[in-house]
Amino acid sequence: MPFGYMGKILWVDLTTGSIQEEEIQDNLYKKFLTGYGLGAKIIFDKLQPGVDSLSPDNVFGMMSGLLTGSGAFFSGRWMIMGKSPLTNTWGDANCGGYFAPAIKSAGYDGIFFVGKSQKPVFLLIDGDKKELIDATDLWGKDSNDTIDDLTNRYGAHFKTACIGPGGEKMARISGVVTDKGRLAARSGLGAVMGSKNLKAVCLGGNKNVNIFDQQTISKLVEDFAQQFYTYKHPLKDKALNEATNVPILSGVIRFLSENEMMPPISGEIEKYAMKTWGTSGTVAYSANNGDSPVKNWKGVGYIDFPGRLTREISNDSVTKFETDKYGCYNCPLCCGGKVAVKEGAYPISETHKPEYETICGFGTMLLCNDMPSIIKINDLLNRAGIDTISCADTVAWAFEAYENKVITSADTEGLKLTWGNEEAVVKLVEKIANGEGIGKYLMNGVKIASEHFGKGSEAYAMHVRGQELPMHDPRNPDGTSLGVGYEAEPTPGRHTSTLDCCDLYRQDRPSNKLTGKNLHPMKNKCKDSDPGDSLRDASCFMDLVNGLGLCAFAFDEGVTPPIVEWTNAMTGWNLNFEEYLHIARRIKTLRHSFNIREGLDPMEFKMPNRARGIPPLEKGPNAKIKNDFDKGKISYFNAMGYDLKTGKPLVETLDMLDLPEVKKALYK
Ligand code: SF4
Repeated sequence: MPFGYMGKILWVDLTTGSIQEEEIQDNLYKKFLTGYGLGAKIIFDKLQPGVDSLSPDNVFGMMSGLLTGSGAFFSGRWMIMGKSPLTNTWGDANCGGYFAPAIKSAGYDGIFFVGKSQKPVFLLIDGDKKELIDATDLWGKDSNDTIDDLTNRYGAHFKTACIGPGGEKMARISGVVTDKGRLAARSGLGAVMGSKNLKAVCLGGNKNVNIFDQQTISKLVEDFAQQFYTYKHPLKDKALNEATNVPILSGVIRFLSENEMMPPISGEIEKYAMKTWGTSGTVAYSANNGDSPVKNWKGVGYIDFPGRLTREISNDSVTKFETDKYGCYNCPLCCGGKVAVKEGAYPISETHKPEYETICGFGTMLLCNDMPSIIKINDLLNRAGIDTISCADTVAWAFEAYENKVITSADTEGLKLTWGNEEAVVKLVEKIANGEGIGKYLMNGVKIASEHFGKGSEAYAMHVRGQELPMHDPRNPDGTSLGVGYEAEPTPGRHTSTLDCCDLYRQDRPSNKLTGKNLHPMKNKCKDSDPGDSLRDASCFMDLVNGLGLCAFAFDEGVTPPIVEWTNAMTGWNLNFEEYLHIARRIKTLRHSFNIREGLDPMEFKMPNRARGIPPLEKGPNAKIKNDFDKGKISYFNAMGYDLKTGKPLVETLDMLDLPEVKKALYK
């Protein structure tokens, strides 16, 4: 009997309509966990290299995590994967909400789709019954209406993941939506669902996952909860969080902290902020301190978008619209929220609170300080099923292209794309969401848009291989590891595998000696100056987190989740942390090898010069910083056991990681 996993996946051939189970050997779970790991193994084996990502031959997968169903906190992430139409690399994205347990309740660790249906369909799993159902009546509906429709038909215990009109139009920056506003957004995989005429997956299963040692896991969760819910320094945490909102004070705190001139700040400060404001609690601090890019990455926070403006889109300025707080499945932190806007140009009765990335993207990046318009944009893009990060970078590029007369009012149908013009931003986003006018080009992301309009505008299109960059600036003094991650990860242009685990927990970052951040399992592992081994371990750690189906925020809150003990109790395995990290390194190398087999050269994955600091910014917190990303990447690939000229995993690396199928594919 399998423990921790369901032991099988479901294959759906949309061309023939066949739906078949496949049993997965136990040893594959111990080699690849679930999530991105087992998903990458299945797709690597099934997918022929060189297929068009939007052709029926692409394989699209949805996976749950190994700890989902265990009762462990933060264990509700689910993941999608396939060849990315945005980058033509390995593509994946992950998301919270309530869909991960629904996959396991359906009886599977994952569901995989091949082929293309002749007409729109959705997959329904109702108990033991599985069928493809005509979705012609759902095609064209936005994600909210689609989810409402299927919930009304089948009941609230059915969980739906679907595409919106963005995915239907195969917009290359589209994702997959659950819970009426949570997106597995990155890599453009919504377009893959659209290319297959697959509108939705609606799950209403009745299976339970077997837990090896229920008593131990319950005790571990109880102990963790006791620590997690105990606040040691609530007043200090509150005061420090409030202070970070004030530009001058946040600068002073940063200076004192970096120079070891202030007493320890509790690691719980992050927990306080996340519980109170969610990710919107760091918008002002990030703008003031050079973390979030400003004015399409050419500005400086406190000069171009000063503190009095950033405060209008951060912390209480966001939560004043909040009507409810919520958390994903089994989450003790509950960073999510629902908001309403009662008056003004953009009234809205209920929608999700925008996240940090969205607020920075449509606020700081465009010099817009009007929160209701950002809430409106977030709602438009969630309904359309479009990635807000990619869309924001694309819109910011359009504003700069307009400034440089590369695009004109004739292209925008009269919209004046001047910095800070929030009305123009909302109207432009509507065009993108509807794929109308200039939106036809912009909905495919900044690389395709800038190549279409040309005239040198490619230089300020902020992406790596087509994936638009997140709202974290690698030009900051601690940013080498982050930038290396943007260029070296199997899914380039992503912050999630290197931001938290390396920059925040770096061994050589003075403030880490003070902040209590070293509670992280990567304690003392990370250093920025020569990131090699430390970046390998830190970024592989995120492959572990994803393979287990955990939320990355679990590791920022001042109490370390006992992931080794949780996983051993769930599965009956007896592995230690280093052994789990070894599995994670195998997963990362497999995802990386997908790109090599596609004939791609990862040494050519580069950020634009502007993001690399060439030339460096003249002013602000990141002034004159010259991080050496080339050296960092060499150091990282060396530590990963990859060839330093081609980025290809060495034979001995593949042997060490027990990946014979990859060796065969890469060394024919
Ligand atoms: S911390 Fe936030 S994103 Fe993560 S699981 Fe909890 S509610 Fe979801």
